Amino acid sequence: MSTCTTCPYCGVGCGVLAGADGTIKGDPNHPANAGRLCSKGTQLGETIGLEGRLLAPRLNGQDTDWDSALGLVADTFRAAIDEHGPDSVAFYVSGQLLTEDYYAANKLMKGYIGSANIDTNSRLCMASSVAGHKRAFGSDTVPGCYEDIEEADLVVLVGSNLAWCHPVLYQRLVAAKAARPGMRVVNIDPRRTATSDVADTHLSVAPDGDVALFNAVLCRIVDERRVDAGYVATHVNGFDVALDAARAAGATGLSAEELDRFTKLWAGTEKVVTIYSQGVNQSVCGTDKVNAILNCHLATGRIGRPGMGPFSVTGQPNAMGGREVGGLANMLANHLDIENPAHRAAMQGFWNSPTICKTPGLKAVDLYRACAEGRIKALWVMSTNPAVSMPEADAVAEAIRAVPFVVVSDILERTDTGDLADVLLPAAGWGEKSGTVTNSERVISRQRAFLPRPGQVRPDWQIIADVARRMGFDGFDWADEAEVFDEYARSTTVSRDFGRDLDLTGLAGLRRGEYDALSPIQWPVPGEGAPGGRFFAEGGFFHADGKAKMLPTVAPQLATPPESYPFTLNTGRVRDHWHTMTRTGRSARLSRHMAEPYVELHPEDAVALGLRDADLARVSSPTGIAVLRVLITARARRGSVFVPMHWTKHTAADGRVGPLVAADTDPVSGQPASKGGFVAVEKYRPGWQGFLACVNPIALGQVQGAVAAAPNGFSAELFGEAPTDWEALARILASEPNAVASQITDPARGATRIALERDGDLVALFLAGPGPVEAARSHLLTRIGQPANPLPLLAGRNAADRPDPGPTVCACMGVGANDLKAAIAGGCHTVEALGEATQAGTSCGSCKPELASLIATHTPVAAE
Ligand code: SF4
Repeated sequence: MSTCTTCPYCGVGCGVLAGADGTIKGDPNHPANAGRLCSKGTQLGETIGLEGRLLAPRLNGQDTDWDSALGLVADTFRAAIDEHGPDSVAFYVSGQLLTEDYYAANKLMKGYIGSANIDTNSRLCMASSVAGHKRAFGSDTVPGCYEDIEEADLVVLVGSNLAWCHPVLYQRLVAAKAARPGMRVVNIDPRRTATSDVADTHLSVAPDGDVALFNAVLCRIVDERRVDAGYVATHVNGFDVALDAARAAGATGLSAEELDRFTKLWAGTEKVVTIYSQGVNQSVCGTDKVNAILNCHLATGRIGRPGMGPFSVTGQPNAMGGREVGGLANMLANHLDIENPAHRAAMQGFWNSPTICKTPGLKAVDLYRACAEGRIKALWVMSTNPAVSMPEADAVAEAIRAVPFVVVSDILERTDTGDLADVLLPAAGWGEKSGTVTNSERVISRQRAFLPRPGQVRPDWQIIADVARRMGFDGFDWADEAEVFDEYARSTTVSRDFGRDLDLTGLAGLRRGEYDALSPIQWPVPGEGAPGGRFFAEGGFFHADGKAKMLPTVAPQLATPPESYPFTLNTGRVRDHWHTMTRTGRSARLSRHMAEPYVELHPEDAVALGLRDADLARVSSPTGIAVLRVLITARARRGSVFVPMHWTKHTAADGRVGPLVAADTDPVSGQPASKGGFVAVEKYRPGWQGFLACVNPIALGQVQGAVAAAPNGFSAELFGEAPTDWEALARILASEPNAVASQITDPARGATRIALERDGDLVALFLAGPGPVEAARSHLLTRIGQPANPLPLLAGRNAADRPDPGPTVCACMGVGANDLKAAIAGGCHTVEALGEATQAGTSCGSCKPELASLIATHTPVAAE
């Protein structure tokens, strides 16, 4: 039997049918995905095992009981507040939390402790969109819905690799374009990505050239008389001042022809949706980028009507829920404002709380600076890993270490942040907890438990309530998550009565059974009248006069890299991993697509640096160093490099991008500019490089490299200083001191291959040499844990019946690049034909852009 729940990864918010045996299917009745799932969602069943789970509270590394742990947390926070004041403590929470968890944490910090020092990893993700919405609309309101994307005649993607980061939404876009070939898609991104494959036009805008670009669109709208004068006169302030700012030209990095074609297309297309994401938000001018986009939609009145509007797509499953209940340090609750005394008094009245925060709290970057400066005496991190994900991550780890008392709630016993904690609290995982999440289009969905809670784990809302009660606070006596949700829904009477957007009063008073049965529903959900719908088609903005504001957005000077750090650093996600890999890193299938951290750079830059594909490169910035595998692709923009964000001290200590990223922030939103730092790149020559496949977990320790899950075990890409005894090193890395070793060495090349057998099975295979290891990894991994026949493998031969499939492209069906190239050579020249021949792309479809790219590259050209 399956349980209807929601995917815990991106903000698309797909419905999932999950079985206790780990079977996963897309929910055909969920409005976000109608049965589709991407590769990450499809493989959720591989991520729910208990290996490495934190199953009991821990104090200084020793298991303890809940009473002791909760008492210590409550007493220490209470003592810090009594001695140093409420602003001496802080929570750092996560878009992975459910709305009920978020609600409890925000209520405790803002309404009972009396500080606003609660910030969230959503600060790294969409704080600039929140700030842009508030400046333009008077409220953090997403006006439209996913159907707008399908109904648009022009979809413009800005700083959004939708194909990898919001794959099901991308699939909906691809399907819509296939059904209506007249639809135009423009992808605006410095880097050509998988998303570019659906686009009619890819515009390689200069990093931070987006403000100038949308200012140019606004000018074109005016010059071509596309302004909706009636809408502007009735519903919009600030038109003239915004236009004046837009008239001051700025650099976009595009040719005059590209600029002309794009601005003409945007201005001339009534049904236009502009989707934007981290490429817009993660910038020192992120909020201005958002407002430059919103200005164009406001000037044309193309907002809140079918097929038109600006659309911020959120990175995390519950970034929107967190925004709603006040998870950001500069928001109160229910989209109300901390700075507004009437809002504060009303929320305090609803909570009947002893106090209320008076001023905004510390945003993430400032919060960790305060930790480093000794101003934070007690810190509680929930469901996130800032020692990896924050900019200047090594400095953040030191800052956390400097806090006298650190609590971390997590599902895992070892994370980079958990390793710094005094107290670890075992939180329930995705399949074990129950509550609600809100996706990018304001649809609230139930996340339902389908697994028993292992060990002593507890849901986050309950842990927070337990601590609150021990601190002596009333108001946290919820019996279950349904009661938390009911209180949240009732609290929106406050925002409704202020005439704000967030109204869930129609969901207040749900009985437990009704809450359990709740179907996905788009807010607002008023007490009377139909729920959901779009905002702002007829105005109704949330500034005091009911009008929207167009903002003067001044295009910044494009930054010139300093001589010592000549490349712009772009960071982001890969297709099959999520954040710091605490879940996706457990899946062998998901780990095969990108098994190690890499730096992507343009072929001409590679030539200038003397780098070849699969070399190692040392990438450095003023704040950190990483050693990364080189991936050369014409998709990169010259002068820019891309490094993915997922690897940690536990998976690739030298391959982490966080330490490289400078902690520069947008002055309005406080969001870090994670796509705008500068780095130097040079060839890195280790003493040796190697590949290890084995049945046991691999502890790196004395060598460098990256570990990954693999079928029947684990794999590692390794490098380091040349050891004196290869066999001894292989045994240590594979944790196989007593296995029988076979070894072939090639002294002329300085290469060695070692097989370790135990009880007749091949338990480890270690290949090493002076340069990148050339080996059919997919094939070798299939032999691990199987009856040993090491000689062909040591000789570098594949078994006759198992040709090397090549690097994994389709994670679901396990299809490699070599198999696909062979099928293309055999006549499969469409994605569908490749699917029929190899099964690639026939499950979740997330790899279809890569299939199209392979076809484009490898289809033989007919002779003239
Ligand atoms: Fe999950 Fe993929 Fe859907 Fe995002 S697109 S919610 S990661 S299944």
